[in-house]
Amino acid sequence: MVTTYEQWRDRAARVTPRNELFIDGAFVPAADGATFATVGPRDGRELARISAAGDTDVDRAVRAARTAFEDRRWADASPRHRKKVLLRFSALIREHLEELALLETLDVGKPIGESLRVDVPGAANCVQWYAEAVDKIYDEIAPTGADALAMITREPLGVVGAVVPWNYPLMITSWKIAPALAMGNSVVLKPAEQSSLSALVLAELAVEAGIPDGVFNVVPGLGPVAGAALGRHQEVDKIAFTGSTGTGRRFLEYSAQSNGKQVALELGGKSPQVVLADTEDLDAAASAIAWGIFYNAGQTCNAGSRLLADARVMDDLLAGVVKVAEDIRVGDPLDPDTQMGAIVDQAQLDRVLGYLALGRDEGGQVVTGGDRVRAESGGYFVAPTVLHGVDNDARVAQEEIFGPVLTTTTFTSEDEAVRLANRTRYGLAASVWTARLGTAHRVARALRAGTVWVNTFDASDVITPFGGFKDSGSGRDKSLHALDAYSALKTTWINVGNS
Ligand code: NAD
Repeated sequence: MVTTYEQWRDRAARVTPRNELFIDGAFVPAADGATFATVGPRDGRELARISAAGDTDVDRAVRAARTAFEDRRWADASPRHRKKVLLRFSALIREHLEELALLETLDVGKPIGESLRVDVPGAANCVQWYAEAVDKIYDEIAPTGADALAMITREPLGVVGAVVPWNYPLMITSWKIAPALAMGNSVVLKPAEQSSLSALVLAELAVEAGIPDGVFNVVPGLGPVAGAALGRHQEVDKIAFTGSTGTGRRFLEYSAQSNGKQVALELGGKSPQVVLADTEDLDAAASAIAWGIFYNAGQTCNAGSRLLADARVMDDLLAGVVKVAEDIRVGDPLDPDTQMGAIVDQAQLDRVLGYLALGRDEGGQVVTGGDRVRAESGGYFVAPTVLHGVDNDARVAQEEIFGPVLTTTTFTSEDEAVRLANRTRYGLAASVWTARLGTAHRVARALRAGTVWVNTFDASDVITPFGGFKDSGSGRDKSLHALDAYSALKTTWINVGNS
């Protein structure tokens, strides 16, 4: 078992990642030989050059997926068989815990402890959960009376294109592929260009588990090339997308320009953390609020990036949040003691630093952090930052920064709190802190968000749906509802009156 910083660095120095496309059960280079670089955010060095899928490659992958779907080996396999194979897949992910965690940490800069404890086990759990669910769901018979037997059955959609971001590569991939495969679909996965490495291992493990060739394909490549080709492909029946709101909308256009395929969108957020004056344990709230934004260096779609607190408790709360922020160990993601790692790449670092400058211009007071740190490492690190006293309409309080930056705004009444919380184009998540159950319930109902946490933040499980209102999207990942998202209802009406 690898445990120490030295051991992880040693292992990192010897890693040779998979770097080709995975189509029809085999690794292949891009048809035109194109490649792109993936850079490690911990030191800014190139980790690997990866084959870049172009139109031809995406077409090959989709055709492989279509052929595999039409031969029905997976689509018509009994739920019990799909369950067995997916359980094996989940077990293999667990067996490859260290390898996958290392790739995830090197590729996206998240602390190795998180990759080991959260991301890889989370993906394995998700695959296991859908495996176990798939032989426990029944179809329906409609109440038509004695003359007819009308069966309502779920059928797989066909070929699902999954397009995912870089912040939780394995976990978000599992939210798409596990229910899609469980329902008998074929999948073509387009990982984000910053984070393709773990997906290529996943593909190999899927085949080892017994998923037939062509049922699960991975096409790394640039978004506007490989992502667009998948979005526009006539033989793709559904796109399951997670990423930014702007890119998500492009997939609606791709769909309209091609075959009108279904598009499920899990998009950005600017989630409020609302603290009412009667909150009993401000220290606990401060800790949850700080980790609600600083976890994964703020690169979380539901990050609680706006603190809205009653003016009577703001000072005490702020002191607690700042203390937690200043105690966070920002460091090399390979060090098991590191609590906050790097920003994913130079472009994202520049974006975060740009927002820090803007926040100052907009009147925010930097009470902690505010700058790049550990620049000598060559990596992309930013200190946990609190911008205090920001107007809710300021750009830093309205636009998704996707970095470790918390804005704070005060309110003086519950109505104002709800109004400020909802005054955003996004609606992914929110939290409310209060000692009163009635207040919690009233405010939670009033908040327009796909998930509302009461007296906690970021509690989650595969059993609950996840997705947004408003510009945060329309789809829902996780839970049994996701099985509906990867299947179509079919009515078979049988006349049994005269026979
Ligand atoms: P992004 O939109 O830039 O990229 C997401 C995916 O789309 C990547 O695979 C990328 O290659 C592809 N892509 C980019 N441009 C494309 C184009 N023109 N055509 C087709 N495909 C294209 O997002 P990102 O920067 O990778 O991820 C960060 C965003 O994801 C944030 O906005 C975050 O809030 C969001 N996110 C949402 C959720 C959720 O569940 N709601 C979860 C995680 C991240």
